[in-house]
Amino acid sequence: MDIHTTDDAVTRRIRFFTERVMKLRENDLYFYNQPIEEIKGGSRVIVRGREMGMYASYSYLGLIGHPRINAAAKAAIDKFGTGTNGVRLLAGTLTVHTELEETIAAFKHTEAAVTYSSGYVTNLTVISTLMGRGDYVISDKLNHASIVDGCLMSGAEFRRFKHNDMADLERRLQQAPGDVTKLVVADAIFSMDGDVLDLPKTVELCKKYNAWLMIDEAHSLGMLGKTGRGIEEHFGLDDVVDIKMGTLSKTIPSVGGYVAGRKELVQYLRHASRAYIFSAALPPGQAAAATEAFKVILDEPWRIEKVNANGEQFINGLKHAGFDTLLTTTAIVPVLCGTDERAYKLTQICQHRDLFVLPVVSPAVPEGLARLRATVTAAHEPKEIDHALDVIATAGREIGIIQ
Ligand SMILES: *Cc1c(COP(=O)(O)O)cnc(C)c1O
Repeated sequence: MDIHTTDDAVTRRIRFFTERVMKLRENDLYFYNQPIEEIKGGSRVIVRGREMGMYASYSYLGLIGHPRINAAAKAAIDKFGTGTNGVRLLAGTLTVHTELEETIAAFKHTEAAVTYSSGYVTNLTVISTLMGRGDYVISDKLNHASIVDGCLMSGAEFRRFKHNDMADLERRLQQAPGDVTKLVVADAIFSMDGDVLDLPKTVELCKKYNAWLMIDEAHSLGMLGKTGRGIEEHFGLDDVVDIKMGTLSKTIPSVGGYVAGRKELVQYLRHASRAYIFSAALPPGQAAAATEAFKVILDEPWRIEKVNANGEQFINGLKHAGFDTLLTTTAIVPVLCGTDERAYKLTQICQHRDLFVLPVVSPAVPEGLARLRATVTAAHEPKEIDHALDVIATAGREIGIIQ
């Protein structure tokens, strides 16, 4: 098909993006897909030969490149090679997979855990395996796209409640017929706003209305709780979440996703979830890296304290400069800009001044709430954060986002 002469819907969609990207590139406002040439110690990167401070990383505890984790990956490659013999259910399961799943279960204080090849796929396959036509799945409005896609794929009735609004969650639960199977699903730390789910109230409502509870800990694993075990530890609650989902691609510097919970649940997923049955197993090096990372988190608790202190410094500095950072209390910090143009402009100036930050614009966030989605990690030093704050505040004043 020739994109230039035909005019069907596919062609129009492709052309729309071609033009949008081209226009941004022409105006030096395209910041996506930049290849990082080198990662230097976790807080700095080299992009097009320039060293920049990294403020867009998901490696919250600064574990990318940790010597113990690298060594574990290399040893697994030497032992097993770089691939598997297929899908987990058949010949793909290696001892590195069972070790990883036992490690996750121990870390999460659950009976068992199952892993998949990505967090995205985990949400898709787990929600659509557990839920089906006639069931109700009730999801926070700001939940991650992979949760939304899993809910849609399940064919269940899909209802959304206002972000972290427990009165609205209760209304949605009341609206579902009493005898119907219900699942409430939410992020623990919300990926664009950085705020924390009201877990105690969510649990109370799930009990009251007899609903299953699934929590996505993509951003809270290693971040919340004194020992980094996540949102239940943060609120001092013990095993109140039925389906504890998380990723191995953020704080854990690998790739993959998991669900931890009761052993019958995990066994069911091993035999019924399509991503486990029809998609290749995690590569051995990545599985071993993830296992070692869970151990490092427990052995180096200072990282959790440091990322939290760094988050506090960053949020306070931005607020002091006059920025709106919404309700974040974590190392994920929205720096509100208003229009998409302002967010692009702020990114442009920051990047020219060697700060690697990225904009989030509509439709990923509502119109008028365009922002930088900035992050700090345990790899940052306080004086680096002070410098970043200086750069962002100066640029914010130049654009008129703050006074
Ligand atoms: C990143 C993310 C995922 C997807 O995880 P991947 O391992 O990157 O596929 C799922 N849920 C949330 C909340 C996320 O932020």
